[in-house]
Amino acid sequence: MAAAAPETKGLVLVIEDERAIADLERMYLTREGFGVHVESDGRAGLAAARNLHPVAIVLDVGIPTIDGTEVCRILRADGDWTPILFVTARDDEVDRVLGLELGADDYLTKPFSPRELVARVKTVLRRSQTRGADERVYVVGSITLDPARRRVTAAGVGVELTATEFDLLAFLCRRPGRVFSREELLSQVWGYAAAAGTRTVDVHVAQIRGKVGDASPIRTVRGVGYTADA
Ligand code: CA
Repeated sequence: MAAAAPETKGLVLVIEDERAIADLERMYLTREGFGVHVESDGRAGLAAARNLHPVAIVLDVGIPTIDGTEVCRILRADGDWTPILFVTARDDEVDRVLGLELGADDYLTKPFSPRELVARVKTVLRRSQTRGADERVYVVGSITLDPARRRVTAAGVGVELTATEFDLLAFLCRRPGRVFSREELLSQVWGYAAAAGTRTVDVHVAQIRGKVGDASPIRTVRGVGYTADA
């Protein structure tokens, strides 16, 4: 009996110049029910992003013609906020992705497991789908957080947060007073298992505190994790 065609979850654009990696990405994303279109350089990738309207882009940073970070910058400058999962091979590429701040939804460093790839694509998708769906404005302490506009003010002054910093702060501010472990935050905000390292959470909390200053509602609960003070 022929298996029913799996329901498609939408088209993922893979921009990757290493054939073996592109093939692997195609295989695993297809198995998950995504349509997959592959391009091997930045210029063709950018054209495909504009013509095919993918639900997400898996974007290698080191690619010919136009660098991956530049492809992202061009799309964002055009007002195209398709979620992007960057694939990096070296530390300097990670630095370049982090340097993009807003617009870098996430990144994955080679070598990665196919399972990790699939989990991360789902995370960037879920994050973009919940974006804009929440019209409430949250006021926690002297912080005002507007998820629909992805805007944060601390004591009335606008604060620039990266996508992940915003998501983490928003997650806590939506549930003031509730205490979450680092593992819970990793799985809820980043969408993958705690194996990724709970220090990631600490680093992001420190970055938020650095930007928001004394107005930060995030409080460390020793031996447990973090909470946003109501
Ligand atoms: Ca490459």
